[in-house]
Amino acid sequence: MTYLDYNATTPVDPAVLDAMLPYFREHFGNAASRTHVYGWQAADAVAQARDQVARLLGVSEKEIVFTSGATESVNLALKGASEARRSASGHIITVETEHKAVLDTCDHLARLGADVTYITPHADGLIDPAQVEAALRPDTLLISVMVANNETGVIQPIDAIAQLAQDRGILFHTDATQAVGKLPLNLSDGLIDMLSLSGHKLYGPKGVGALITRKHVKLTAQQDGGRHERGRRSGTLNVPGIVGLGKAAELCHQQLMTETIRLCALRDRLEQGILSHVRGTVVNGNTTHRLPNTTNISFANVDGEHLLDSLSELAASNGSACTSATTEPSYVLKAMGLSDELAYASVRFSLGRFTTDDEIDRAVQHVTDTVARLRVEFAG
Ligand SMILES: *Cc1c(COP(=O)(O)O)cnc(C)c1O
Repeated sequence: MTYLDYNATTPVDPAVLDAMLPYFREHFGNAASRTHVYGWQAADAVAQARDQVARLLGVSEKEIVFTSGATESVNLALKGASEARRSASGHIITVETEHKAVLDTCDHLARLGADVTYITPHADGLIDPAQVEAALRPDTLLISVMVANNETGVIQPIDAIAQLAQDRGILFHTDATQAVGKLPLNLSDGLIDMLSLSGHKLYGPKGVGALITRKHVKLTAQQDGGRHERGRRSGTLNVPGIVGLGKAAELCHQQLMTETIRLCALRDRLEQGILSHVRGTVVNGNTTHRLPNTTNISFANVDGEHLLDSLSELAASNGSACTSATTEPSYVLKAMGLSDELAYASVRFSLGRFTTDDEIDRAVQHVTDTVARLRVEFAG
């Protein structure tokens, strides 16, 4: 079985696990305990992790709020900022192809009285800053646009959008869950007000993440309690998880350039291999503004519902939301104008740190053989 689903989750890097283990065993203290060495050690470890995350993103340690993952970070950013502006009824701008963490949070705010504009991307998945500009209103309080899409890898022009927001005093949040550790991101220019990230997408553990929130941003906490994280997110810190996130951030920082080159080459080899061996294939999304590790490919003339099942040697995905009864075609691909049929017959391949040349060559062969077989069945 070859794992090509790194955008769904990554394995924990062995060095990350090694860094975490002492904080389950001998250094099990509560980082908020001020009266003994157990607490001090835990607090020191959290401080180091904060420094590691801060360095990766060019922010100050005080601007990091540790959370349980990107979903919580997004909720805190969007709900917390709306609530702090005391206007549940403001206007919010986002994009149809955002992750459900953003879309469902915006739906929640809409039920509380906010007005939400959902921008439709172009066929290549990109939005134009001019579309954001056209959607602006005097009461716009928040814009949320992801850096890179989880299904297609398409990278949005967030600097230009953040600049539009800043010029008008509108808060800008970005879901950078798929970009952190894969793209060089530096927030020191001050354009991005809030950024969400997750440990398990960058070789850290699941259930830990962070919200970066710049000094000037006023947020109302969404979880009250012992006033941890400067009152922005109460609850005893997940020390081993945070240590793991910090180590993961450090490793990504060190490997970013070499991994970008390696993964681009591997991804292109997979993509070119499939496109040249299998007729009726197209890549979904802009291929210039794209993550190094992701390719999303549609296969014409196959029964999409059976495609992934039939690719039995590959762990990949089609980004569709599965409920117990029905499988929906990807709303991301549909927003880009794909038919239900093609959206079903699309596969996201996402590569990562442990992907090898050999695995890619085997994957190309397996996809080629499987699609050929399915087409014979489909035609018959
Ligand atoms: C995985 C993912 C999330 C959710 O992150 P969790 O830490 O699992 O809550 C949000 N946004 C994007 C783009 C993602 O890929």
